[in-house]
Amino acid sequence: MNCLKKRRQQTQKPDFKAELTYPEAIVIPEKPSMKTRGKYRLGGPEGAVVHHTAGHQDAKGSSSVQFAINQGHCYFVITQDGSVYQQFSLDRYGSHAGKSIDPKTGESSVSRFLVGIEICAAGTLETRGDGHYTWFNKRVTNVREIKKNTDNQQAGKYQKFTDYQERALIDLLLWLDQNFPDFDLERVWGHDEVAGPKGLGYWRKNDPGGSLSMTMSEFRHKLKELKRIRANNPGSKIY
Ligand SMILES: [Zn+2]
Repeated sequence: MNCLKKRRQQTQKPDFKAELTYPEAIVIPEKPSMKTRGKYRLGGPEGAVVHHTAGHQDAKGSSSVQFAINQGHCYFVITQDGSVYQQFSLDRYGSHAGKSIDPKTGESSVSRFLVGIEICAAGTLETRGDGHYTWFNKRVTNVREIKKNTDNQQAGKYQKFTDYQERALIDLLLWLDQNFPDFDLERVWGHDEVAGPKGLGYWRKNDPGGSLSMTMSEFRHKLKELKRIRANNPGSKIY
């Protein structure tokens, strides 16, 4: 039994090849890999799904990574200061999106081919007399209101991602696009797209919603623009 246990622990140790690890990412050597369920059919992700954690925006990277390990989920984590955590190998997929459909290809269960990116933020907020509160009853002031359903954004009040988080998200997505030949910036979806009206046909999820500073359609457009601009200005980090 000891022998089996030891072997299982060894195979789960993070041991990621450099080309399968985002150079800016923090890998926590003493933690095991997040749970993966198989190899990507094309060797790497074909796009991505942007989420918010619906948790504390100031959550530590190590506890967010541990949470995913405990839940059997697999995704990048971007903390409030823009740090990116990766605790899995990018040739393998794991669960993050649940019931979902890729609006471009019509395929279900998108976790099999799109990589998940969780951004630490509380998500939707409740308004009471003296301010805006998270579902875990923390008062926050970095609030964005979406007045009516627009593109992927369901009406409501949301805790905003920080500028550090949005920049880190852009850098990560453009790196994925540059390093995986089948990665498609047109298939960078919000969870509220693949598990929302554009995918499932109804709102099952509302992240990133108004936590991101623009709609996902605008965000994809911006990513393609930045790709073009950065290609013409090598070494620059323009947002
Ligand atoms: Zn989500």
